[in-house]
Amino acid sequence: MAKKILGIDLGGTSIKFAIVSQTGELLEKWSIATNILEEGSHIIPDMIQSIQDHLALYQLGQEDFIGIGMGSPGAVDAKEGTVIGAYNLNWSKKQEVKKAFESAFSIPFFIENDANVAALGEQWMGAGNGRANVVMFTLGTGVGGGIVVDHKLIRGFGGCAGEVGHLSVVEDPAFQCTCGKKGCLETVASATGLVNLARHYAQSYAGDSQIKVQIDDGEMVSAKEIFEAAKAGDRFAEIVVNHFCHYLGLACSHVAHILNPQIIVIGGGVSAAGDYLLTKVKEHFEVNCFKQVKESTQIALATLGNDAGLFGAAQLVRLESQLEE
Ligand SMILES: [Zn+2]
Repeated sequence: MAKKILGIDLGGTSIKFAIVSQTGELLEKWSIATNILEEGSHIIPDMIQSIQDHLALYQLGQEDFIGIGMGSPGAVDAKEGTVIGAYNLNWSKKQEVKKAFESAFSIPFFIENDANVAALGEQWMGAGNGRANVVMFTLGTGVGGGIVVDHKLIRGFGGCAGEVGHLSVVEDPAFQCTCGKKGCLETVASATGLVNLARHYAQSYAGDSQIKVQIDDGEMVSAKEIFEAAKAGDRFAEIVVNHFCHYLGLACSHVAHILNPQIIVIGGGVSAAGDYLLTKVKEHFEVNCFKQVKESTQIALATLGNDAGLFGAAQLVRLESQLEE
């Protein structure tokens, strides 16, 4: 029987686990709630216990696995196997994740930040469909990214490669980013960013718009409501979405001119806006692209949804174990 891979997607509300075959079949999947109490000190023991319980349940032994892969929030040192500054887990101090797993199991353990892991998932079993050169933009509360070149995850010298959310693309309006800079992609092309743009442009828009009325009344508006209004023909919402797509398309063109990947995958919660979003991003991408780049780099929506992290954790093990196609 071919050996399997255990993938873990560690998040602030739940921890997801999957047993995946080397060819990408999802064999088993389960999850537990994340207990972030007491500085997140329960998280690692809870994960180890849950794996032990499920291996017993499925009558699998450690020898049935080639590796355990994990995607984690925060600053991950892939080599040392540590995580620091994962505030949604209450992990402000350095966590020795790899050491804990290697003392509990005699299975090789690999860890990466969750944005890189999502990119690996889409590269392998999602929109990337196993292509060697794939870049992913994950649009959520912020904007994350991951780069795969020739079947290798690009980490960079300081581990910061693929931080596409902090590409400076906006001169005016230059919103403050959580990183301390102004004008970062994530200040305009995330769920938060779309709302930033709506608030900004509401100040100078004079026509009728339900979204503008909500903003003027001090009500909360969500990215989803803005996209829905734009699709329904709300002119103000269309203007806001066009600015969003301009910045995202521009950032994609910058990445494409440097890396010329086969595909740029747009994922994360905001990508639920679907083909409406994709068509507009493509327009802005193409306007900003050199001819040969435009003709060879495609843009597509992510296809794995919430499973990208699990498949990516498994792909991390495959790549690190040199099991390339
Ligand atoms: Zn930033």
